Amino acid sequence: MIDLRSDTVTKPSDEMRAAARDADVGDDVYGEDPTVNELEARAAELMGTEAALYVPTGTMGNQIAARVHTDRGQEVLVERESHVYKWELGGLAQHAALQVRTIDGGDRGIPTPEQVRDGYVEEDAHRPGTGLLTLENTHNSKGGVAIAPEEIDAAAEAAHDLGVPVHLDGARVCNAAVARDVPPARFAENVDSVMFCLSKGLGAPVGSMLAGNEDFIARARRTRKLLGGGMRQAGVIAGPGLLALDNVSRLADDHENARVLAEGVADADGLSVQPPETNIVLVNTEGTGLTADEFLAACEERDVLGTQFDTHVVRFCTHWDVNREDVETAAEAIRSAV
Ligand SMILES: *Cc1c(COP(=O)(O)O)cnc(C)c1O
Repeated sequence: MIDLRSDTVTKPSDEMRAAARDADVGDDVYGEDPTVNELEARAAELMGTEAALYVPTGTMGNQIAARVHTDRGQEVLVERESHVYKWELGGLAQHAALQVRTIDGGDRGIPTPEQVRDGYVEEDAHRPGTGLLTLENTHNSKGGVAIAPEEIDAAAEAAHDLGVPVHLDGARVCNAAVARDVPPARFAENVDSVMFCLSKGLGAPVGSMLAGNEDFIARARRTRKLLGGGMRQAGVIAGPGLLALDNVSRLADDHENARVLAEGVADADGLSVQPPETNIVLVNTEGTGLTADEFLAACEERDVLGTQFDTHVVRFCTHWDVNREDVETAAEAIRSAV
């Protein structure tokens, strides 16, 4: 089976398993786990921020950020297809008591400065006020598009001019960095916090990082505890996480494999394929007469797995556990599934 459902399906390498076994550990709730402390320091360095916090999941990282940046009852500006809005169980309402205002970020899922200004609500006797803008890079639902740093800067600047802080959901920001040929820190330069996942293309079994300034991270640490995310000898999972930080440049292989996959299925009858910028390939099945579900079932019969994104949209995602030969085989299977 060639599993292209997500880049989260990777199994830890032998090296990562050894790092888990050998990790120097302590009680991280007391700040005494040296491996976690090292991971947080290195993540902060990678993002060019003062500090970082190890969190069990990307979702928890986003939810903590939303809660720390805002006051109860404020509005949060989100892109209408963004993960934090679409795929996190309405957590913005549940954990931070926020009202969501959506922005249509178009094909690439990035709000323009104008849209940020239009979406802003000034606090008064009747209106809650805007407490946060969230951005996403790469944008998952839009097909892993790698948004340019300048576009992130522009949206963030518009928010900052209105006194609104900005959180970047950078679950795959390292993919964006590789695709745009800039250091990951470039995307964090003009935002107030950034979350990125160790457990996706970087290959760690568990964990994400939330990065920002000292004050933000101190408050995020308390909120992590509030949400039940205070961990003890977490060095056991942070050890593999440290190795994951060395895998940023490796993401280029996933991008190349996604390109090969996309080209391999582009001429399949009725399939329309979005040229990938990173490790995500979106395929529209409408022209084949098959729904996404029917198409995926046919792929599965041929030993290839993908994810349904919409009635006629399927996502295939490349990752560390599939190589060039696998994606070539997968492309052939997908063509025959049509
Ligand atoms: C995967 C993902 C998350 C959440 O990460 P989990 O570790 O699965 O909770 C958040 N945002 C985006 C854009 C993602 O792709």
